[in-house]
Amino acid sequence: MSADRLYEVKLFLPRFGEKPIGIWLDLLIFRSAEIGICLELMEKMKESGFLQRIRIVLVGTSHPGNIGASARAMKNMGVSQLVLVNPLEFPSDQAVWRAVGAADLLEKARVVSSLDEAVADCTLVIGTSARGRRIPWPVLEPRRCAEMVAQEPQENAIAIVFGGEKMGLSNEDLHRCNYHLTIPVNPEYSSLNLGAAVQVVCYELRMKQLELLESGPKDEMDDWDGEFCRADQMEHFYEHLEQTMIDVDFHDPENPRQLMTRLRRLFSRTRLDKMELSILRGILTNTQRNASVQSSQLKGESKNV
Ligand code: SAH
Repeated sequence: MSADRLYEVKLFLPRFGEKPIGIWLDLLIFRSAEIGICLELMEKMKESGFLQRIRIVLVGTSHPGNIGASARAMKNMGVSQLVLVNPLEFPSDQAVWRAVGAADLLEKARVVSSLDEAVADCTLVIGTSARGRRIPWPVLEPRRCAEMVAQEPQENAIAIVFGGEKMGLSNEDLHRCNYHLTIPVNPEYSSLNLGAAVQVVCYELRMKQLELLESGPKDEMDDWDGEFCRADQMEHFYEHLEQTMIDVDFHDPENPRQLMTRLRRLFSRTRLDKMELSILRGILTNTQRNASVQSSQLKGESKNV
């Protein structure tokens, strides 16, 4: 087996928390049949290895100890991307202390100043909250969430978003998500500690990953003929949609009611692909153009009267 292939095997296996296997591989002299098995295993892990594409986003965390506890929970389950949106205190010794052996995740963590920035390139964004909302968002439980994540095409980035300890996710935060994940807990005492919530969600993701390693991936969306839109593209679409509705006098920004919220929810459920988005944007652009032609014609007519 060539050294670079061996290196590839070793690189890949430790992601699954199997560090000693690297040393073990060094001691073995491979026969070609064994190499075949190794490479097949590697391919299988690559195919279904969605854990490394998952981004855990913590919004407005006030207690640095909870950031550390979340990092530990993530690493135990093989999830490694942590993004912090406006943490009250970070970097922090307390976070490192609570992370124990997962301090490397804190070192690699990205700190950003808005949720939009944290999820811009994600095609699937799942917000977590114990609280129901006045305008309900499509709700998932952690197991269903893991199924959805596993079905996401392999090149797509996925974010799971957690709120701060005091207020949780705001409605505006949740409206940037495709789904609202609720952990089904005791309704009389429904709010988990942040690290515990991250643990439960990441545990289900890992269980799904292990199940796929047994059975091989089944990707419902693999034959889809278009790429899904990213969160930042959807945000531009919502701006365009809102402006068009203003231009055609359908929407009054002074009295918005819940129009944009309801439309966001509609499109979140649909999961637009890029072709669908460009058709919709084309319709909006033509609608705007015709509305402005009509209004200038009307102005011209009223001048002539
Ligand atoms: N006081 C906050 C809860 C904060 S708990 C509130 O009223 O919303 C910190 C975070 O953990 C939450 O924002 C959410 O992301 C997650 N969380 C806690 N309990 C949860 C549950 N039962 N289901 C889903 N997420 C939960």
